[in-house]
Amino acid sequence: MKTKAALDMDNVILDLHDCWMPRVAAIIGRPISREELWSHNFHHVLQVDRSVIDSTYTVDLYDEALPLAGAVDGVRRLAEEYDIVICSTSPVEFDAVKTAWLERHFPGVALDLRYCRPQERKAKHVSDCAFLLDDYLKNFDGLPPSCRGIVYDQPWNRMDAFYPRAANWEAFLAMVGIPVAIS
Ligand SMILES: [Mg+2]
Repeated sequence: MKTKAALDMDNVILDLHDCWMPRVAAIIGRPISREELWSHNFHHVLQVDRSVIDSTYTVDLYDEALPLAGAVDGVRRLAEEYDIVICSTSPVEFDAVKTAWLERHFPGVALDLRYCRPQERKAKHVSDCAFLLDDYLKNFDGLPPSCRGIVYDQPWNRMDAFYPRAANWEAFLAMVGIPVAIS
C-alpha cells in the first residue's frame, strides 16, 4: 500500500472561480477580478450579503468548471506514487456532480472520495494522509502532526506565512518528491 495523499478539489484541481465570478459580477453589476479576493470571506471582500454568494453556488457550476493548469497530469503523476484521497467540502446534493466531474477528467485513476460537510472539520477525514493540499486555510485546523498542510496558492490565502505554499501543480509535485515538468 502506498502513502496516502489528500487533495482538496475546488480551486486546487478545478477552477471554480472562473465559473463563479461572472455569476456574482452579474448580480453586483461590476466585473470581479480573482486578485481582489484577498480573503476567503468573499461576501465581506465584495461587500455583499452572504446570500448573494450562496445563491451562485449551484450544482451546475460543475458542468462548466475546467481543471486548473497542470492538475490533470499532476493528479495522474501523483497517483503513481501515492494513494490519492480527494476531500471536498459541500452540502450532500453536490456529491453526485463532483463525483461525475472527477470521473470525466480522471477516468481510470483510483481516487478515494471523502466528502466533508460544511459544519465538519476536514482534518477528521484526512488524518491518515501524509499531507493535505488545500486553498482554504481553515481546512488545516486540527491536522495531526503526521499530516502536513500545503497551501495551494490563491489570492484569498496569501495572508498566511506559516504553511508551505505551492504556486502551481508543478511546484507542488516537486515539494512532495516528484520533480517533473508537466504539460
Ligand atoms: Mg478549495
